[in-house]
Amino acid sequence: MGPPSRPRSRDSSGAGKRSVRGLSPNLDSRRSNRTSAGSNFAKPSSPATSTSLSTPDRKVTVKEYSSSSEDIAAEIVVWTGDTMDVDIPESPTPAPAEISDPPDVVVEDMKVEPIVSPSSSPLSQPSSSPSIQPPPSPSIEPPPSLHLDVPSAASLDPSTPLLHDPLPPTPSLFPPAPPSGVVKPPFVDDAVVPKAEDSSSSLSAVSDHSDLSPALSSVSSKATTPVDNESSKDGMAPPAGQLASQIRDKPRRRYDVRPKVSIPPDLPLYEYATQCIAGAEASRLNPYALHPEEYSMLRDHISHTQVTTYLNIRNGILRLWVRNPQIAVTRDEAVGCAKDSRWFDVASLSFDWLVRRGYINFGCVEIRSSRKPAAEISPTQRKQKTVVVIGAGMSGLGCARQLEGLFKQYSKRFREMGEEPPRVVVLEGRSRVGGRVYSRSFTTKSKHVAPHFEGKRYTAEMGGMIITGFDRGNPINILLRGQLGLDYHKLNPEMTLFDSNGKPVDFERDQMVEKLYNDCLERVSEYKFQQPTSKLIEGNRDLIDEGRDSSAETHKTIRQAEEAAAAQPYAAPVSEQNMAPQVHLVPVSSDRATGKVHTEPGTPGAQKAAHRVRDIGWTLKHGVSEDADLEIDSLTKEPNATLGSVIDKIIPQYRDLVDFTAQDYRLMNWHVANLEYSNATNYNQMSLRGWDIDAGNEWEGAHTMVVGGYQSVPRGLALLPTPLNLKQKSPVQKITYSPDNTGRATVECEDGYKVEADYVVNTIPLGVLKHGNVQFEPPLPLWKTDAINRLGFGVLNKVILVYKEAFWDESRDIFGVLRIPSSRHSLEQKDYSSQRGRFFQWFNISKPSGLPVLLALMAGDAGYDTEQSCNDDLVAEATEVLRSVYGSRVPKQPVEAVVTRWASDKFARGSYSSAGPAMEADDYDTMARPIGNLYFAGEHTSGTHPATVHGAYLSGLRAASEVLDAVLGPIEIATPLIIPKNHSSLKRKASGANNKDSLEARLQQYEIDMWDHIVLHIDRRPAMPNKPASNAYIFFSKSNYDNARKKLEEGRRPGKGKPSANEVRMMSAKMWKETTEEEKRPFVEMVEEQKRGYADKMAEWKKLAAEWDEKATELRLKYERERPPPVASEEEGSKRRRAAGVESYAEPDEDEGIVEEDEEDVTMEG
Ligand SMILES: Cc1cc2nc3c(=O)[nH]c(=O)nc-3n(C[C@H](O)[C@H](O)[C@H](O)COP(=O)(O)OP(=O)(O)OC[C@H]3O[C@@H](n4cnc5c(N)ncnc54)[C@H](O)[C@@H]3O)c2cc1C
Repeated sequence: MGPPSRPRSRDSSGAGKRSVRGLSPNLDSRRSNRTSAGSNFAKPSSPATSTSLSTPDRKVTVKEYSSSSEDIAAEIVVWTGDTMDVDIPESPTPAPAEISDPPDVVVEDMKVEPIVSPSSSPLSQPSSSPSIQPPPSPSIEPPPSLHLDVPSAASLDPSTPLLHDPLPPTPSLFPPAPPSGVVKPPFVDDAVVPKAEDSSSSLSAVSDHSDLSPALSSVSSKATTPVDNESSKDGMAPPAGQLASQIRDKPRRRYDVRPKVSIPPDLPLYEYATQCIAGAEASRLNPYALHPEEYSMLRDHISHTQVTTYLNIRNGILRLWVRNPQIAVTRDEAVGCAKDSRWFDVASLSFDWLVRRGYINFGCVEIRSSRKPAAEISPTQRKQKTVVVIGAGMSGLGCARQLEGLFKQYSKRFREMGEEPPRVVVLEGRSRVGGRVYSRSFTTKSKHVAPHFEGKRYTAEMGGMIITGFDRGNPINILLRGQLGLDYHKLNPEMTLFDSNGKPVDFERDQMVEKLYNDCLERVSEYKFQQPTSKLIEGNRDLIDEGRDSSAETHKTIRQAEEAAAAQPYAAPVSEQNMAPQVHLVPVSSDRATGKVHTEPGTPGAQKAAHRVRDIGWTLKHGVSEDADLEIDSLTKEPNATLGSVIDKIIPQYRDLVDFTAQDYRLMNWHVANLEYSNATNYNQMSLRGWDIDAGNEWEGAHTMVVGGYQSVPRGLALLPTPLNLKQKSPVQKITYSPDNTGRATVECEDGYKVEADYVVNTIPLGVLKHGNVQFEPPLPLWKTDAINRLGFGVLNKVILVYKEAFWDESRDIFGVLRIPSSRHSLEQKDYSSQRGRFFQWFNISKPSGLPVLLALMAGDAGYDTEQSCNDDLVAEATEVLRSVYGSRVPKQPVEAVVTRWASDKFARGSYSSAGPAMEADDYDTMARPIGNLYFAGEHTSGTHPATVHGAYLSGLRAASEVLDAVLGPIEIATPLIIPKNHSSLKRKASGANNKDSLEARLQQYEIDMWDHIVLHIDRRPAMPNKPASNAYIFFSKSNYDNARKKLEEGRRPGKGKPSANEVRMMSAKMWKETTEEEKRPFVEMVEEQKRGYADKMAEWKKLAAEWDEKATELRLKYERERPPPVASEEEGSKRRRAAGVESYAEPDEDEGIVEEDEEDVTMEG
């Protein structure tokens, strides 16, 4: 079998075309050019046949990837319906059984009932279920025409400009999905533009010299960068990033790059800037400010004014990554984002930080290895460390894949240390990957396969299901759309709520109750933990928006400036300078599909309750004054107060203000059930202070589901670009670790299998950790076990029903049903808690599943009840609920049904984490903290995105970063980081000590002098007129600012201060919504007038700019004639430069175009 064809550089000659290319609609159906030279990934043909997945590097044995009939997850009960099933199962299945509840359905000891499904392992494919396949073939096939309704031509058109075209100025990384229906992922053209767009770049011809630093000396003898390191206490290692960097006292790195080589020369600068900003936003980084870790890393090395240039470079690197995440950004490409060679080390440092922290080059990405020859130690002599990752869920696979990538990118460093890059071993207890992302195959198949579904598996999501938006930095976007090219279905957000009698709830009433519910959440959000603020060091926004660097040269570093400021009389200490403002986030709406609360900055509970309820449309009861308020304070002070205990006592208080009917109670409790769904527990088990700890971290964009199964993502992580070293069916029972990092670790599996490791990453779910059947030696310290105990881990279950045909409204993806309380017309909250979450929310998952399927949620108490209920009863109740809405069209029995019981699953012990009643603000961070050589990942270690698939994945990246820091030490920083303009090395170059370097310096100076000359004669180029506001609302909000503020001041509770700018903004938006078309007219006319004025100014500007350009060209030519540029004398170089269209900067070397620096020049004393 031949070696895989590798993507190489990003040259325009085609040599560097990517191999993980063509975002196939389906991993399973296409082949990659990586396999064209000999397939690395043999398609498993059936569950029974052996699966040999081999690569030149390693062979994956059948044992690792095949499954057997025992390979069945315990949490699921599957059975076929009676003989009304007319869709013929394609694979042999036992005769349809009576729906029954076998006595040994789900048992704690993993005993499982017989299952009808031919296989439960997604990695072992039944013949009809294509396996995960290597990436798509090099030839771009038009995506198969998509199914049934919707997909717009544009969304399916492979020529639609996507990844490789300039990003739109929106934060969205990929094009938006069409209004509904199945969406094809963006297509990457064969002729994909390399990341370094400069086709004249010499990058294509040079090997990857990305890591030229000599062997890592033991930690630098010089002081490490003074980051505010917390000293390690109680065996707690400092969190990642606190040891962000160390000063390098070795020769400077050399780069085979010219400045700007990664900046497309033909792209207007402002457009380039827009793309860079979008790149940062798509990576969860503020384009205009340093991340706290960047601040720690840079504060001794750059000045405040230099932050702008740093951010331009960093955003430029992110731009390269998000535009083509199938191949890794190289160091040289990153360095090519600098506009001046003095900044090369800064760009290189930024690259290191982005790589190590998993902002770039993560996921199923092709990483080009260095062409440098290996060090002169035979492989057999080299040492090799081992990292064991426990668990093959999203966090474990994400971490293992990231470690593989990091080790490859830093492979040279390992060789220089006389080591092989560490090996990564994943131990998974189950016989499948994905953990709580589990797309279970149905036994039922469709006779008529919809075109969009061809080659896909008929599955339903037992666990993680909804991707809550791709925009604003969801890493699943990169994995799913950017790398794996999976099809997804956009959920229609419109939903109908049916009352318990099956009638749709009146829309207005529904809205009014929802607003009351949000008001209630807003009032309790006053008692939430205050989020700590961090330093906010911003660059110059205007310059960043225009893609320009700061020309100011200040010599005071950020630290020096801060310390100088602190030394002034009455000045704030350094730790309090440049702090981001404290922002209160208040709930404003709830997401019906996920139960998550959306927040906005504001002041919680600012208005008196009576005033507010009237404002949202309720009529106050006779005799109730607008000053009437709720009593909440005392409730929050009750011992053991929880979110639920407080809200349960707030709801009746609204009854004193307005008429609140039994239906309103049902509606209110439907929303509570939705909140319980997003937290997988009864809200009486949720912390009043921490229930919304992740507020403000939501993504943007439509909610989506993966067609054919979300599990394709973890499977992709396990297999691409090369299979991980993964051992399934290996439940770990004991972890022996070294809390003080003095020894190795040992991981022991239940079957006696043992692995010695230097580092262990534990992704075992919180539920399993709470259960305590995995032994730690020594036992975990108290600070860790306390956090384990305080955090919650509840259960959400699902009942999934397959029908012969749909009887529901197929245009909708979601509908809700209000449940009646245990005592029918009760107005007591306590009577609602057991019932409200039973079959309260339904998903029509026919499009992602390929069959007519409904999925019902069992949330809150109902989630726990499901674990104990028998299948017949659950299906009967589900049928009753459906019949209340759809009447006799609902068949007596479904064709097939699946019930999850996550709490009974020994590898999960529940669904996901939540803020337990006694939770402390930093419990999630405490869960993430390593202990010696034992690291932690998993959704329960993510304070920003807990209980989610993306949170789990991000935690894996974080753990990988921590392990790399432990193995290699912190990132090195060259000093001085930015070569001063008048530094001796530059002087030497300018004086001609080194011909090539002096040429570069002289060229730069020549350009500067020439532009000074032009500006002296004809002044600067006329500035483009500013674009006027094109939205009438902006004029409206300006002229109504005072009105909005006054409105907010009415009914304001004492002590709430003045309305914040954001509150005023929200009030103006509300007022605008309520304004008639007639009243809007003057503002619309203002816009028209501004537009006309702008058009005139633009015409004038174009004329002036053209005249200026003409004069400037004349002056330039004259200048060049009178004072020939330094290159003109070097004939050979000049020719090459002109051929390449390069306007300035260093000439390439004779061969390879490498700019070499001699050692003397590049070694800087610190
Ligand atoms: C019903 C349900 C619905 C959900 N819905 C959504 C949703 O819509 N959107 C969303 O973003 N998230 C959702 N989630 C949450 C999401 O699925 C999880 O947060 C995420 O998948 C957790 O990933 P993880 O890697 O942290 O843990 P896991 O996926 O649980 O991975 C841990 C792995 O460790 C293995 N393991 C456990 N014990 C051992 C042992 N002793 N030895 C070896 N291996 C072991 C497990 O088998 C598992 O593979 C849902 C979850 C559930 C259960």
